Amino acid sequence: MFDFIPLSVPNLKGRELEYVTQAVETEWVSSSGPYILDFEQAIAQYIGVDDAVAVQSGTAALHMVYLEAGITDEDMVIMPDLTFIGTLNPIGYIGAEPILFDCDEFLCIDPEKIERFCALECDIRDQQLFHKGKNKRVKAIVAAHIFGALCDMEKIMDIAERYHLTVIEDASESLGCRFSTGRYAERHAGTIGDFAVISFNGNKIITTGGGGIILARNKQQLEHIRYLSRQSKDDELRFIHNEIGYNYRMTNLQAALGLAQLEQLDSFVEIKKRNYEIYESFGLKLLSYGARTISNYWFYSLLTDNRRDLLIEQLAEKSIQTRPVWELMHRLPPFSKYITFEIEKAAYYHTEIVNIPCSSNLTIEAVEYVATEIKDILG
Ligand SMILES: *Cc1c(COP(=O)(O)O)cnc(C)c1O
Repeated sequence: MFDFIPLSVPNLKGRELEYVTQAVETEWVSSSGPYILDFEQAIAQYIGVDDAVAVQSGTAALHMVYLEAGITDEDMVIMPDLTFIGTLNPIGYIGAEPILFDCDEFLCIDPEKIERFCALECDIRDQQLFHKGKNKRVKAIVAAHIFGALCDMEKIMDIAERYHLTVIEDASESLGCRFSTGRYAERHAGTIGDFAVISFNGNKIITTGGGGIILARNKQQLEHIRYLSRQSKDDELRFIHNEIGYNYRMTNLQAALGLAQLEQLDSFVEIKKRNYEIYESFGLKLLSYGARTISNYWFYSLLTDNRRDLLIEQLAEKSIQTRPVWELMHRLPPFSKYITFEIEKAAYYHTEIVNIPCSSNLTIEAVEYVATEIKDILG
């Protein structure tokens, strides 16, 4: 009936081929070309900001943002323990030190614990926060919005102001998410912190093959990021570069794909919401995205009553692809030596959750089939 049902795959049924063909026919395939600027403008407009900078991946976007935020190899950074490795790796490129934090009931970094950490373990000197034990500056909070839920940005922004921290939103997974109530009602993910990134990797809600986009509250800083991402080129003719740059600029081919995808974003969100509701109607226990979020329904988190591995294995036998949440960052060799703070919920959700098929091209019949198979296994 169904050959194989993957967890999350791209949906390329719009004008992708038309735009990419156009890029090829005009021979603009690399890091210049009209689609790049069009894509930056289209994303900015969708989100409700003035400008955005497109790069090769979400990870590259985070690298640029961490540098522009002034994070150095002498700094510590408040980061989530439950996230994709792409949040952490660029901190490793810089040589800064992450401090790994627990999540809340929506899998996003827990602001109560950040507050407690700042109050108990740090002090403020000259308008900067220092970790007392390590005598190092704590420079920033990285708030990663997980699976379609949003971090509690009101609390995070208040803490950041009180403790002089820069706020970076890793909105890699959150294109199409908005805040529902309160101070930031109706604002899109990525428009609250000092900087934000969104990813267009193949499994994200829209894709450019690989790609990312950067938002920043400060225009000069955003422009500086654009400059760094293009090898810091100051003179096109004589090849003058006045700073160390990065070859991170998005290509016209990627942007062509992205423009076609963006045209379909709202319909993807609708389908994902519909499918989430079908799973729920079968009595499956899915994690909520929380009242503060108008979600894009990117990933579905099924609670499995301690039968995670059994479920994954038995669904695989039926050619249904599922997976556990990412391994927690503090358990991975590159990051296991760093400080953690009160990790409890993240460890619980890690053992409990299975992500189930959520592609925007899943038919109602396919979702009902998956739901039935899960019911069969979990009872
Ligand atoms: C996808 C993702 C990234 C990195 O994006 P890439 O485009 O794959 O480099 C970073 N953080 C989170 C939370 C992600 O889901």
